[in-house]
Amino acid sequence: MRLVFLGPPGAGKGTHAKILSERYQIPHISTGDILRSKIKDGSEIGKKAKQFMESGGLVPDEVVIDMVTERLQEPDTKKGFLLDGFPRTLNQAKAFDLALSQLEMKLDSVLYFKASLETLLMRLTGRRVCSQCGATYHVKNLPPKKEGFCDFCENTEIIQRKDDNEDTIKNRLDVYDKDTAPLINFYKSLDVLSDMNADLDVEELDIDLEKVLAPIVNGGSE
Ligand code: ADP
Ligand code: ZN
Repeated sequence: MRLVFLGPPGAGKGTHAKILSERYQIPHISTGDILRSKIKDGSEIGKKAKQFMESGGLVPDEVVIDMVTERLQEPDTKKGFLLDGFPRTLNQAKAFDLALSQLEMKLDSVLYFKASLETLLMRLTGRRVCSQCGATYHVKNLPPKKEGFCDFCENTEIIQRKDDNEDTIKNRLDVYDKDTAPLINFYKSLDVLSDMNADLDVEELDIDLEKVLAPIVNGGSE
C-alpha cells in the first residue's frame, strides 16, 4: 500500500500516519521528522534546513527530493509506505512521480486531510511533543498522564515545537495555501485523491480512513 497524506499543518496527518503505519506494518515517512532528526544530528542537510523550518518556510525542493528518493530505495518500502509532508510543491510532486516510475512503484491513493482554520489553529497552538521520542500530545485534547512529561520516556519534558508559535503558524498556513494546495488539483486530475474530513476526532476519522483504504487493502497491490 503506497499512500500520500496531503493537507495543511495541524490537520492530523502525523497522528493518523502513525496509527496506519503500525496497523499495516508499512514505514511512516515524514519529511518533517527526518529533517528534525538531521538538525538534531548536526548534519549538513540539517544545517541547511534549520533556518527555513524555524521561519515556517519550505526547505528547498532539491534537498527534500533527494532525501525522499533515497529513502524510497530502502528495503522496508517494498511492502509500501506512507508519506507524510511530501510532496509539498508541484516541483516535488513531479519529481516524485518520476522517482516512482523509475522504481516501478504505483501510488495507491492520496488522502487529502481537509480541516477548518479553527481546527488547525486549535491543534497547532496546543500541540506539545516529546523532545526524546517525538510522541505528540495536545494540552487539552490529548494531555500526557503526568502534566508536562512524556508518557513513554521517563522524566522527559514535552515541549512546544519552535515552529508552533502563532506567527510561524500563520506563515506555514500561508505557504501551504500558496505552494501545497495546488497539489489537490494535481492529484485530482490523476484520479487518486480522496477527500477526508479532518475536523473529525481521531477515532471517527480512523473509521473513514479504513473505508477508503479497504479496497486497496483487499485488492492487494502488496
Ligand atoms: P507540519 O505539517 O505540521 O507543518 P512537518 O513536520 O511536516 O510539519 O514540517 C515541518 C517543516 O519542515 C515545514 O514547515 C518545512 O519547513 C519542512 N518540510 C517538511 N517537509 C517538507 C517538504 N516536503 N518540502 C519542504 N519543506 C519541508
Ligand atoms: Zn517520549
